[in-house]
Amino acid sequence: MTLPSQLYVDGAFRAAKSGRTTTLINPATEQPFAEVAAAGVEDVNAAIESAQRAWEGGWRDLAPGKRAEVLFAIARLLRDYAEHLAEFEMLQIGKPISDARDEVMLGARVFEYYAGAVGKFYGQTIPVARGGLDFTLRQSMGVVAAIVPWNFPFPIAAWKAAPALAAGNCVVLKPASLSPLTALALGQIAHAAGLPSGVLQVLSGSGSAVGDALVTHPLIRKVSFTGSTEIGRRIMELASRDIKRVSLELGGKSPNIVFADADWQRAAESSPMSVFANTGQDCCARSRMFVERSVYEPFVEKFVAATKKLIVGDPTKAETQLGPMVSAGQRASVEEYLADARKRGSKFATGGGRPHPQGFYLEPTVLLDVGKEDRCWREEIFGPVVAITPFDDEAAMLREVNASPYGLSGSIWTNNLSRALRVSRAVQSGVLSVNSHSSVHVEAPFGGFKTSGLGRDLGMTAMEGYTELKNVYVAE
Ligand code: NAP
Ligand code: MG
Repeated sequence: MTLPSQLYVDGAFRAAKSGRTTTLINPATEQPFAEVAAAGVEDVNAAIESAQRAWEGGWRDLAPGKRAEVLFAIARLLRDYAEHLAEFEMLQIGKPISDARDEVMLGARVFEYYAGAVGKFYGQTIPVARGGLDFTLRQSMGVVAAIVPWNFPFPIAAWKAAPALAAGNCVVLKPASLSPLTALALGQIAHAAGLPSGVLQVLSGSGSAVGDALVTHPLIRKVSFTGSTEIGRRIMELASRDIKRVSLELGGKSPNIVFADADWQRAAESSPMSVFANTGQDCCARSRMFVERSVYEPFVEKFVAATKKLIVGDPTKAETQLGPMVSAGQRASVEEYLADARKRGSKFATGGGRPHPQGFYLEPTVLLDVGKEDRCWREEIFGPVVAITPFDDEAAMLREVNASPYGLSGSIWTNNLSRALRVSRAVQSGVLSVNSHSSVHVEAPFGGFKTSGLGRDLGMTAMEGYTELKNVYVAE
């Protein structure tokens, strides 16, 4: 497989109608390495019309077994070409190769899960008035727009496209400008696997150029978005005109809560990767740590020691744990937060600088004594920065946890079962883990409370979200 560079529209690979392209920069070397087609509004319209034809022309009515067959074939090819996809992901966003490999496999697994779900997904019969029959149908919606970000480009593209396709919709997928390659490769693989023309379209290109046209097109029935709260809000506003369905997976400022009764040593050793993995560019990053005061000092010492051991560097090396940030702009935005922390007198327990002269690298940074009104405490930084604070009282700590406008993820460390249950109920987040840092399971719903989003990805909940529910009553 060579580096993809063309749009996938109406079952064909082609340049943008305008001839425009975008240059991709390798974040580890700062060198340009590819030119990729940049779609315009005319490409968006062509893709949506083709998707609508493909939906009406048969995808929605295809026997479940046939739809499953092609989704399984996509999964098989994803596994066959996994090494190519992992390399594309690494080149475009600087993701360490071992993470990139795991994420491609996750995407393949997502296709398998939804391929298997196709024939096991149906409506209900409901006892109502005597004599008649009442039943529900789960019907496909039509054309779904999937707009995805650059931090986990391939798995997020997969976990939006696969359930939408499995439910009988056609999909127009728009990857982020910084990370079009794996989405375009998915188009090539879907094509090779025999997905009918038009069922999936992949439009690389800038969100500011094509976003409005995509979201407001009358044939788009649902917009499934992952990215910033700012763009999510805009999509929801635009979608409101036609009451289009939206699902939004947005930012986070997730808590990591460590009680003294926990195996806090294990928590201290594992927690750095819960915030620094993917160089902190993770909506689920546990970027606010609450540690019970009696273990706060030894915890911080262990946490900082574990952070200093992380291997930051060349993403092509198997042992690398943290690569560069995605772009100069993203690093500059994080460095502004660090400047604010310095100005406000926060303590840098480690990090804060650039570890390598070339590449958009930034050291994993541990901040102490961050004020509760400071930007670093309140806002999503989207970089390798954590703020750790001690707490004394569970109820007061929970008030502070829930004071955030976000509510995506979080971890709770305790060996007291009642406390684990009580705190799990109290934290206002869509995804929580107890004595672990996992957030994503293919089989389980994923998404946020409050400004972290609306609707859920993954699991059967996501598949329901790509259908309309119809109730039919038949009189006797
Ligand atoms: P973003 O602008 O929200 O980008 C996400 C996706 O939306 C990209 O495909 C982007 O395309 C597209 N987009 C941009 N403007 C659009 C518009 N007007 N209409 C429709 N789609 C549009 O995110 P970003 O600017 O890359 O990152 C900014 C911040 O967002 C980050 O610092 C972080 O806080 C947050 N973020 C969160 C997640 C998450 O997983 N929840 C992921 C990424 C970023 P282009 O790339 O072409 O602009
Ligand atoms: Mg943006």
